[in-house]
This record gives sequence, C-alpha cells and structure tokens, in this order.
Amino acid sequence: MASHFGNPEERLKPFLSLGFSSRAIHGGQHPDPVTGAVMPPIYQNSTYAQSEAGKPIGEFEYSRTHNPTRRVLEDALALLENGTFGLAMSSGMAATSLLISLFQPGDEIVCCDDVYGGTYRLFTKVLEAQGYKFRFVDLSDVGQIEQSITQNTKLVWLETPTNPLLKLIDIRKVAARAKAVGAKVVVDNTFMSPYFQKPLDLGADFVLHSLTKYINGHSDVVGGAIITRDKVAAERLYFLQNSIGAVLGPFDSWLVVRSIKTLPVRMKAHGESAQLLAEWLEKHPKVEKVIYPGLKSHPQHTLAREQMSGFGGMLSFYLKGGLAEAQAVLRKVKVFTLAESLGGVESLIEHPAIMTHASVPQHIREKNGIADSFLRVSVGLEDLADLKKDLDEAFS
Ligand SMILES: *Cc1c(COP(=O)(O)O)cnc(C)c1O
Repeated sequence: MASHFGNPEERLKPFLSLGFSSRAIHGGQHPDPVTGAVMPPIYQNSTYAQSEAGKPIGEFEYSRTHNPTRRVLEDALALLENGTFGLAMSSGMAATSLLISLFQPGDEIVCCDDVYGGTYRLFTKVLEAQGYKFRFVDLSDVGQIEQSITQNTKLVWLETPTNPLLKLIDIRKVAARAKAVGAKVVVDNTFMSPYFQKPLDLGADFVLHSLTKYINGHSDVVGGAIITRDKVAAERLYFLQNSIGAVLGPFDSWLVVRSIKTLPVRMKAHGESAQLLAEWLEKHPKVEKVIYPGLKSHPQHTLAREQMSGFGGMLSFYLKGGLAEAQAVLRKVKVFTLAESLGGVESLIEHPAIMTHASVPQHIREKNGIADSFLRVSVGLEDLADLKKDLDEAFS
C-alpha cells in the first residue's frame, strides 16, 4: 500500500549512526534539492500539482495528508526518541485525542492519578461520556502497577515525572506488566524531552509530546506529537490523523525544527540551573519542602538516576504558610513570569491549585498534595543569580 507517510524507515537510515545532538541538528534534513538551501524551507501551501489525474508530480497531494516541512519535523522527532514513525499535530491535546482514537469506547484505560490537568479534563469531561473507561491510579506506587493493570486494560497512560508533584513512574515495570496482559503503554514525555528520557527504549509503545513545552522551548508555538516504532499502529495513526485533521501547520513545523537544533544545549542548561535552584530553595528558611528528582531528598531519586539521564527543568515547592503567602510571592516576582505552561527559555512560576490544575476536583487535588502553599517553577535560562535574587526578594 502506498502510504501517506512514504517510507520513514528508509528516510531515517542516513541519520541512525548519529548521536543525539547531531540528530537534533541534522535529523530528517537534507539541503533543498532545488536551491541548495541549508535549512528546510517552509512549504506554506495546501495542494500539489498532478501530471495526470491521480498522479502527483512529487510525493505530495494535500497538506492535511502530508506536507514536506511537517515531514522533516516528524522524522526529526522520530530520530530523537529512537522511534521510527513521528506524527505532528496542532497541540499536545490533539495528540492525546488522536492517540485515544486508536481505542474504542468501552475500552479500559489506566491513567496515572497525577496527570496534566488538560488530559484529566479530556478524559473525564469528554471521553468518559463517549464510553471510554478511565481508572486513575497512583502508578508511582509499584504495588498498584500489578493490581490495576489487568486483562481488561487496553492502554496505560502515564507521565513521569508527574505534573506537578514530580512523582516518578517506573516505565520498565509498567511496560512489562502491560505486555503481560496485552495492553499498550503511552508515556507523555513532555517534562523530560527525549534529551533526558527515552520511553521507547524502556519498553513504552508510544511517546507523546506537547511540543509547546521544551521541544519548541521558546513559548511561541502550540503543537503536539506522537512517536512510535509500531508500524501497524503508525499506519492507523496516519490514517486517523488525515481523517480527523489534527495536523501542525508548515510554519509552526518549521519553527519547531529550528528550535530542536538547540534542544540538547537548552535541556542541559535547564537541568543544571534547576538542580542548583532546588538545592538553594531546600535550604531557604521560607520554604517548607522542595520536590525535584535531582535532590537526594526525592523519595525516588534512585529510580530517577536509573531511567533518566538528567532531572529536567521543573521543580515544585511548598512555602511556609498558605494561600496568602503564595499569592504574595506570585505578585512580587519580576524575573519569573506568573504564567501557565513550561519549558521555555524564560522562567515561569505558577499556582497549580488555582491555575493549571483547577480542572482537577478539590478533594483529589488535596489528596494528591496540591495545596494552597504549593508552587511550580519552570526554570529558564536566565542567570541563576537573578532567579535566586528574584525569589529571595519575593519571599521577604
Ligand atoms: C501542556 C501539556 C500537555 C498539553 O499540550 P498542549 O500543547 O497545551 O495541548 C500535555 N501534557 C503535558 C505534560 C503538558 O505539560
């Protein structure tokens, strides 16, 4: 079958010997055959000429189905995650919706309990009404993996580290259990990016990204992606993507391709600053507790070292005090921007209970530890001294 995605296995071959940084810079890219342009052009067009009815001049027919700029991005993403098939959509939530479309109403999906607020909203407010069955489980508790993933389970949905509590889930253990009962596993790898964690290598079937975050990294694109090695699932996903219409536009695809070139240096810097900031916060008299996988005090620090090659740029902390103290800090910060989202070059701070996780019911938030004194930080690439000074002043 002539498929919409051509032959990714062949296309990726020239890049397979490259390391991560080289893949980030060159993955899926060749000088433009017409002009020699070193950077992939933006093919900002919807349709492609045919020489005879049904015979396109080139490989492309219509840009919902496939677009050369999007294809470069999809190949680059597949290479970064050590996958074979990449698909890029208009948002992380579009990627989530598309992935769920592989399954049927009635299917049981086990999901980690501390999941991105928008994912929780889609699952409970949209998909449950269509008949999908979700079970929210604390998969960071190894005992619950065996207990909750059963013969009835069709898909396991997880984020690790979770958002915003930064609990870790053992991807290898979940994948082994899922395989034993015939379920698939998807890891939302948005927080770590493939620089720090490669779920397919650990046994996951699918990786999902909000490209909006670290992969694009400049807070100027909303996008999503799915990567897999499973050819049968990939064929179906491309069919669904074309049928449903969840695609990323050429200009946004180009921006993300451009951003990926600096992903390794950005992630390294995010990780270094976050580690130092977490250690500093842990000693600060106004701070009750810091959660960061790179801290020895993190209860799953050992697992973090095993399944990640670094600890990322996200950290959370509890202030001493309550809502008033938290609100005061958020009002006073100047270098940090009070905003939702994460993963950009600029540092952001937010209040999960009021902002990103407001769609999670209060009793569940409280049970999970998303308290009024709880703040989440996306550590950007500013001078660390400025970040410390900004928080120190906001705390006083
Ligand atoms: C932001 C985010 C999403 C949703 O992505 P959008 O691009 O905003 O649709 C999904 N998962 C995680 C972990 C996120 O941070």
